[in-house]
Amino acid sequence: MKYLDYSLTEIIDLLNSGQVTSQELVRECFDRIKETQDLNALNSTYFDEAMKRAGEIDAARARGENVGALGGVPVVLKDNINYLGTRTTCASKFLENFVSPYTATCASKLHDAGAVIIAKANMDEFAMGSSNENSAFGAVRNPVDTSRVPGGSSGGSACTVAARQCFASLGTDTGGSIREPASFCGVVGIKPTYGRVSRYGVVAFASSLDQVGPLTRTVKDNALMLNVIAGADDMDMTASKVAVPDYLADIDKGVKGLKIGVAKQFFSDKLSGDVRTALEQAIEWYKEAGAEIVTVDLPSLDTALAVYYVISSAEAASNLARFDGVKYGVRAENYADVVDLYFKSRTQGFGKEVKRRIMLGNYVLSSGYYDAFYRKAKRVQKVIRNEFSEALKMCDCLISPTTATTAFKLGEKSGDHVAMYLTDIFTVPVNIASVPAISLPCGKDGQGLPIGMQLIGKHFDEATLYRVANAFETAHKEDK
Ligand code: GLN
Repeated sequence: MKYLDYSLTEIIDLLNSGQVTSQELVRECFDRIKETQDLNALNSTYFDEAMKRAGEIDAARARGENVGALGGVPVVLKDNINYLGTRTTCASKFLENFVSPYTATCASKLHDAGAVIIAKANMDEFAMGSSNENSAFGAVRNPVDTSRVPGGSSGGSACTVAARQCFASLGTDTGGSIREPASFCGVVGIKPTYGRVSRYGVVAFASSLDQVGPLTRTVKDNALMLNVIAGADDMDMTASKVAVPDYLADIDKGVKGLKIGVAKQFFSDKLSGDVRTALEQAIEWYKEAGAEIVTVDLPSLDTALAVYYVISSAEAASNLARFDGVKYGVRAENYADVVDLYFKSRTQGFGKEVKRRIMLGNYVLSSGYYDAFYRKAKRVQKVIRNEFSEALKMCDCLISPTTATTAFKLGEKSGDHVAMYLTDIFTVPVNIASVPAISLPCGKDGQGLPIGMQLIGKHFDEATLYRVANAFETAHKEDK
């Protein structure tokens, strides 16, 4: 490997100064993809198309044209993001042969900024999972230790970046699906504020919680990617019109004078010893770097997981109702009538976890249970939101672990759904409160596995998260 050791921001400088071409980068990425294909990180790859596009960008650059902020950089999309003419499978048998009829806004923004989309990443089916073992196309492996999971549901997106198959990827995060795999694979991932990035063209899981965000190897790379994909969109009414700042502008300003909030609820007994120590050291480092550490309280934090599984499953049940064998994907062969067609197509097309969520979602929405579960969950969501907004009034951002443990073994939790759901205890509350949060590496455990820390910000204040994250990353570069 020659170029894939460079970060995204570094490689752009090399491209602009003519030291490397986009075609050379695409070639190197595909060599690396081949070398590391056992990781099973990718569902589809587009060598010919990528080479053609890279050639066009190289030519445009040679003519002195503006090729965009990501001109010529190979990137990967999660396989629930539509990109015209490519398969968008959501790692489901149901959509195995579904071809995108149009391009998602986040993908077209990447394209317009000159990125070269080289592949779609494996994931948990319909983004439901925390280990990437729920893919119809097989589990993804953690590149740091291939006997372990990469996290999920954007496991392929984290793996492909960590394994240096590309320079950056997009994932989606409904309850932790960008941050948890980022943490397990030792990369940087942000879940932006709800509404910061358009969801148009991204297959919906839970529409009130879903957000698209980048996974990268450095904090600055991440900020650059968010610069490109954030912003309003006429095709998505929930995409916010709040102006998008330049996330790189203040990134080097350091943390002197900033207040970082610590909530005792994040330091529960569920934390592994190594994760706790890494977090404590990070907090200590911030103090020495001039930040003020303040104590905040999030008394309802441990209700967030229950709230999440009610709301997200309810929304999933209604979003996935469209997969009926008529309009998209799998259609059962022999059926008696239309109800039988729905029944058989859905039975054949969906995997177990997806079926479990649909059943759970329909149950909590059914008359008689709606008030007891769904309405109550929405009420508790308000309480959690208020607690976060009170806590964030006292500081510039909060710090917490991303996950209670480091990456677990393949198969270790696949039989125990509750244990699997519990891996999201620190990430889920952020989606419930719709605030932004970034995960970045903050050390390794005794077995050399990456530990992630999470910084949680105020609505639309991703800039502060990048600044606080970048300060830590810059000071700990040598530890990597
Ligand atoms: N692990 C969580 C779930 O299975 C979160 C998934 C996500 O963020 N897409 O629902």
